[in-house]
Amino acid sequence: MALIVQKFGGTSVGNVERIQHVATQVAKAVKAGDQVVVAVSAMSGETNRLTALAKEMQKRPSKREMDVLLTTGEQVTIALLSMALQERDCPAISYTGWQVPITTDNVHSKARIEHIDGEKILQQVADGKVVVVAGFQGIGMDGDITTLGRGGSDTTAVALAAALNADECQIYTDVDGVYTTDPRVVPEAKRLDTVTYDEMLELASLGAKVLQIRSVEFASKYNVPLRVLSSMKEGGGTLITAEDKFKDSDMEKPLISGIAFSRDEAKLMILGVPDKPGMAYQILGPVSDANIEIDMIIQNQGVDGTTDFTFTVGRADMEAALEILQSTASHLGAREVVSDDTIVKISMVGVGMKSHSGIASTMFKTLADNNINIQMIGTTEIKISVVIDEPCLELAVQSLHEAFELDK
Ligand code: ASP
Ligand code: MG
Repeated sequence: MALIVQKFGGTSVGNVERIQHVATQVAKAVKAGDQVVVAVSAMSGETNRLTALAKEMQKRPSKREMDVLLTTGEQVTIALLSMALQERDCPAISYTGWQVPITTDNVHSKARIEHIDGEKILQQVADGKVVVVAGFQGIGMDGDITTLGRGGSDTTAVALAAALNADECQIYTDVDGVYTTDPRVVPEAKRLDTVTYDEMLELASLGAKVLQIRSVEFASKYNVPLRVLSSMKEGGGTLITAEDKFKDSDMEKPLISGIAFSRDEAKLMILGVPDKPGMAYQILGPVSDANIEIDMIIQNQGVDGTTDFTFTVGRADMEAALEILQSTASHLGAREVVSDDTIVKISMVGVGMKSHSGIASTMFKTLADNNINIQMIGTTEIKISVVIDEPCLELAVQSLHEAFELDK
């Protein structure tokens, strides 16, 4: 008998029929002999609807009251799902975050889970009940209701799985797994049977937005096997787990697991700055001080005592970063500042890279053969990223997908 945590997202509980469908599915797992704890989101669109209501009352509602308001969305779905389960002769009980309790810090709207007391849940499960827990919410040390940030129900599910020492955490969503790349760009993209936590973190942060990133970090930290599957379509989904879990069994694990890409990129360059100690700090310090996240960074080795500096930021931050850079340039005596928000980043991700060479050169050759110019290159142990012109995105992803035979 396995203990499984199942999480159903907003689309999966988006209307009465879908909630009934979820109930049938949960009841089936119980009949098959599993013990099931469920975490649910609010019905799709509900959190946005409540947010819009708040804006009618106050331009900038306090985060405390927003948390009180938004958590009602999940409270609706736990009750409805429990009713639907009981209707199917499947004993069930609902709990809000504070009833469990899921204790968090006091940071409203993006609280972090500090502790989950699993006793009550385990007691109910031992009594043969399905426990339905409200995702996305908790209770702060001061007794106030908190929320975990948008998409936070994934984190609730993983944290529950960790606290209850569950055998698996299954995230049911509207896609049937993690793909080698976005099927809208490459129709031949394949669903992956397994990826490692590290690969998933790279894929998630780069746009394969299947899971809240924090939930993957959490799963990795507590070694919770995580499975992404569709609530509409049968299938085994994608299992996300530790690297050593499939080291021995998976001789055939491909070198590259997937290709992620991000359109949300902009490039800034400061040219002809004096090449001396402290330059990187003087250029990037003010940008970070403005809370702008910097991604890739390149500094050229100067020949004439000056150097060029290039970095990328999210597109929404480009104007602000440009303004800061222009003022830095004038007091450093730099020659020129240039910005470009028509770039994209493409990344090949795979733990197999650790032990194999030649991946970068195949990648660069493929781009060269397609006449695609590489503007920046960055690497980690399991990832190679390039920055290219936005209009080349589709061609680049398609040709890399083919070159690395990810469709096979
Ligand atoms: N209902 C919340 C949201 O829409 C939490 C979640 O769905 O995970 O962000
Ligand atoms: Mg959601």
